[in-house]
Amino acid sequence: MNSIVKLPCDDRSCGWYAALPEPQPARRLVGEQRADHVVIGAGFAGLAAARRLASHLPHARILLVDAQRVGYGASGRNSGFVIDLPHKFALEHPDPLHKQRLLGLNRAAIDQLQTLIGRHGIECQWSHAGKYQGAVGPRGLAYLEHFESLLADLGEPYRLVERSELASVLGTDHYSRAIFTPGCYLMQPAALVRGLGGSLPENVEVLEESPIQRLEKSSSGWVLQGNDGCIRTPSVLLGTSIFTQEFGFLRNRLLPVMTFASWTRPLSDAEMARVGAQADWGLTPADHAGTTVRMTQDRRLIIRNTYRHVPRYGRSVDDATRARIREDHAKAFRARYPQLAEVPFTHTWGGAYAISRNFTNFFGQLDDGVFATACDNGVGAAWGTISGTLLADLVVGASSTQLDDIRAVTGMPSLNPPEPFLGLGVSTRIRWAAWNSRSEL
Ligand SMILES: Cc1cc2nc3c(=O)[nH]c(=O)nc-3n(C[C@H](O)[C@H](O)[C@H](O)COP(=O)(O)OP(=O)(O)OC[C@H]3O[C@@H](n4cnc5c(N)ncnc54)[C@H](O)[C@@H]3O)c2cc1C
Repeated sequence: MNSIVKLPCDDRSCGWYAALPEPQPARRLVGEQRADHVVIGAGFAGLAAARRLASHLPHARILLVDAQRVGYGASGRNSGFVIDLPHKFALEHPDPLHKQRLLGLNRAAIDQLQTLIGRHGIECQWSHAGKYQGAVGPRGLAYLEHFESLLADLGEPYRLVERSELASVLGTDHYSRAIFTPGCYLMQPAALVRGLGGSLPENVEVLEESPIQRLEKSSSGWVLQGNDGCIRTPSVLLGTSIFTQEFGFLRNRLLPVMTFASWTRPLSDAEMARVGAQADWGLTPADHAGTTVRMTQDRRLIIRNTYRHVPRYGRSVDDATRARIREDHAKAFRARYPQLAEVPFTHTWGGAYAISRNFTNFFGQLDDGVFATACDNGVGAAWGTISGTLLADLVVGASSTQLDDIRAVTGMPSLNPPEPFLGLGVSTRIRWAAWNSRSEL
């Protein structure tokens, strides 16, 4: 038996979610239920797993259960980049085949999302905008040079964009240079996740605001205990990211990290003209400890930076911390857009996700009838989608090249040192990176 100690409790200040209409009332877990499969976690991973299971098993009863509303967790509160290129650490992998596999999997996820968005008419600002990787000072430029060599090795297309051209798109001459890669898509994450949740096949029932408090082995499988009901099932799929540890699996192997974003109200025509910006672009920092900036299709500017190690994940940040982080975001905003200094942020929010010390994603079986995909190292839109899909394939015993590929590129996240050494080590490293990267923040 495993009692869950930490439950998701994301803050109420996510702009993406606030911009959506009120959802229909939640359907909750009540009474004793039986299901052929239960997917816990309705983020990108859980949504994709439930959808794929349903397409394999159209007559099975599949429950998709989340502690919060669909779109409220990390999948609905990220920066909305659906990235095809693996992160720097994966791009540095010595085996070219490893990188090609990751690329292929990410691109399959993008194709899948694009098809679903088209088929179900999901309005989520989906856009094939590509992505700028931007450098401000010498440190950023050194990272950019390295990134360029990795792209050249991989044979991937890219374009160097210099300050003046960048300024004509971004409306700021803050960046010295960027690399533009064309394969990234942008979206409104809460809208996309809600749209995916609302378009699941009929044999998937979505239960929201239904935290699973306990996972118990029984003679016929598993019992999932909620607040007002329970589910008996032979098969559990965990799409619970960092919370996977709470179910007793991958303990001390996942690192809980939180990052934060703020956005402005939509800019007026006059403000757009004042800075000379276009809408609908995204820039991530060449030095990963720097600042991500995005302009949405409805012309809000988003600033994302700041990492925190959050051993007490499952708690939302307090107002004082949020105010401090908002001030840091405002500083980054003013550095880029001094002409818009009076434009206020309307929302500041945080979200937690899992990384591992060896940057390895877990994918596979954890116990009899328990499967998980966890630890996407912060690029979960594409990875969650493809790993959730393939997890369902694994559960039903399907075989495919993609399944072979994901098995080849995933593994076991390495063990963390015990607290307090872990917390001290990670926090020091985050602070050190932020200090070194201050020109890029
Ligand atoms: C500010 C920010 C910006 C980011 N930017 C990007 C980006 O641009 N692109 C990108 O790809 N990634 C980005 N990420 C990371 C990305 O959001 C995550 O990697 C991704 O959402 C993980 O998806 P998931 O489905 O695995 O998990 P999650 O989205 O975390 O879903 C897990 C779900 O499990 C539920 N759950 C947990 N425990 C229980 C329980 N006991 N009972 C019931 N339900 C439970 C939670 O409520 C949650 O909804 C960002 C993250 C943040 C916070």
